[in-house]
Amino acid sequence: MLRIALPNKGRLVEETRELFTDAGLDVRASSDRALIASLGGEFEALFVGAQDIPEFVADGAADAGVTGWDLICESGRALETLTDLGFGRCRLVVAAREDLGVGTLEQITGTPRVATVFPRLTEMFFTERGMKIELVPVSGAVEIAPHLGIADVVVDLTSTGSTLRVNGLREIATIMESTARLIVAAGRPESPRTRALDELQVALSSVLRARGKRYVMANVPRARLEDVRRVLPGLNGPTVVDILDQGAPGARGTMVAVHAVVSSEAIFRTIADLKALGAQGILVTRIERLMP
Ligand code: AMP
Repeated sequence: MLRIALPNKGRLVEETRELFTDAGLDVRASSDRALIASLGGEFEALFVGAQDIPEFVADGAADAGVTGWDLICESGRALETLTDLGFGRCRLVVAAREDLGVGTLEQITGTPRVATVFPRLTEMFFTERGMKIELVPVSGAVEIAPHLGIADVVVDLTSTGSTLRVNGLREIATIMESTARLIVAAGRPESPRTRALDELQVALSSVLRARGKRYVMANVPRARLEDVRRVLPGLNGPTVVDILDQGAPGARGTMVAVHAVVSSEAIFRTIADLKALGAQGILVTRIERLMP
């Protein structure tokens, strides 16, 4: 069995579960609170806190894990990213109390008290800039620390910045950007386990790749195929298929079917362009997986 450490609560839970389900690895938990659940095949999930996942993977308690890049970096453990999963996007930022009136790091005077759940990254960031700080380690609700009078500055995660603003904090620097990653321990020797993990990586990546794409099918006039090639570049140009039952047996019909993979952002434009070329029976579908 290969054990994959997955977050048991918090922001990464939903999208992680959705991704694994779409990749055909359904969580079959005996209850909502189960620590371990089968994912089908040779995989099982170990549900733990997102912040503990780097340790579990580095120590070998799990063969792989899904957690935030911020937590991976904070752990300082030797881990390798197999896939950037793209969700859980946020930034680790430095924010100062609005009433301090500072807009940049350089404007901070003295030795600020910095509250954070990321002591390692915070120390590294300020040390690299030759700035002295007094670290105020907290375990959550960092943005409250300035209100309690125990910090002047916070280092915290944000995506929209609204929580910081509501709490009278002004963002003054970005330490790093983060997304969820599929990780393994660095420097693993080749084994059947690593091959199974590579298959997992391929499965997850193919689902992620497919999400941004649509499959388009349409019947177009054969005479316009050159123009269709411009509109539907596809992975290797569109697939062109003859349509049966057009006129006499063996005759080449005036219409042909074209199939192509198109980026979902471009789909609106593509349909309009195909219609302009005389396309009929346009069909657009989602793709479950895409392996180029
Ligand atoms: P949590 O939900 O607090 O357990 O956070 C788990 C992880 O979700 C964090 O370590 C980040 O990698 C990620 N995350 C994504 N967006 C945010 C956000 N706006 N604030 C905090 N964490 C976020």
